[in-house]
Amino acid sequence: MIKFENVSKVYGDGTVAVDSLNVEINQGEFFVLIGPSGSGKTTSLKMINQLVPLSDGMIYINGKKIHDYDIYELRWNIGYVLQQIALFPHMTIEQNITVVPEMKKWSKEKMKKRAYELMEMVGLDPHIYADRKPHQLSGGEQQRVGVIRALAADSEIILMDEPFSALDPISREKLQDDLLHLKNNLKKTTVFVTHDMQEALKLADRICIMKDGKVVQVGTPYELIHHPVDEFVQQFVGGKSDRFGEDFQLKKILVRTEETNVNDHLRVVNVSASLHEVLEKLSEDERLQVEENGKLIGFIDRRATIQYLSKNVRGRGQSNE
Ligand code: ADP
Ligand code: MG
Repeated sequence: MIKFENVSKVYGDGTVAVDSLNVEINQGEFFVLIGPSGSGKTTSLKMINQLVPLSDGMIYINGKKIHDYDIYELRWNIGYVLQQIALFPHMTIEQNITVVPEMKKWSKEKMKKRAYELMEMVGLDPHIYADRKPHQLSGGEQQRVGVIRALAADSEIILMDEPFSALDPISREKLQDDLLHLKNNLKKTTVFVTHDMQEALKLADRICIMKDGKVVQVGTPYELIHHPVDEFVQQFVGGKSDRFGEDFQLKKILVRTEETNVNDHLRVVNVSASLHEVLEKLSEDERLQVEENGKLIGFIDRRATIQYLSKNVRGRGQSNE
């Protein structure tokens, strides 16, 4: 879908921001770029919609070189959400959402329908919010509008550059949940930049860890946690530092069952197992039985474990900022 082939960016002052990037983002995938400040995330993102010209290599979208697209058409067809809230202050929320559909000359009815549908999707009652101006909304609400605006024209690709980093923790979590919901419903190809590992683990299908303009590792959240390629990744995901998983309790994340007999179909783990042991076993099996005193008490799977980890690594991975 989006393919970086030996892509480099050297800025005018000689800064090598991106160095021979080779990455392929699949159709419908939620792809997260993460790395310390200055690692080249924003530059990589902006090269996709040609806000930053490439110095070397090529980016392909659906097999076609980005240079072969009409640049305005390309940008209209790629939704873009910025870190700063960037709504037009004198326009209503509805008008803000339909900026690109307007340029594409959609009919009034179609635009209204789309705006209302999107507002409802993120819990903004259109009958209340459609006619409001941005300053009448909280920061979190405004950024929610920023996100749905990027979705309004039904573009195939959405780029998001740390869209929630300016928000308070509660709005941030709410927006992440919205985005998870949208992600599961819309299946857009999304490239999402963050430096927050918790956010990455929560949202990503795959994560690409960058450092000094280079890719360090690309993988699913599970792969990064369980098979970090080096110490940098390990530290970033909080993987194997001594204290990691110290307070892990399998009891808190297992799904309880009424049954009590351990069966032969699934591997078994004891309820007091360490996080390390659980991860070890989950690397071979998607799902495990949990036993206590020889009796089955529940099940644990990869998904629940990743979710648990994503809630408990806050702060980690940000030490390089
Ligand atoms: P990130 O988004 O990961 O923080 P950026 O892509 O913004 O990283 O920046 C990567 C590197 O390129 C940094 O060293 C940054 O200072 C440099 N850089 C970014 N934009 C410019 C620019 N317009 N001119 C010169 N250097 C830049
Ligand atoms: Mg950036």
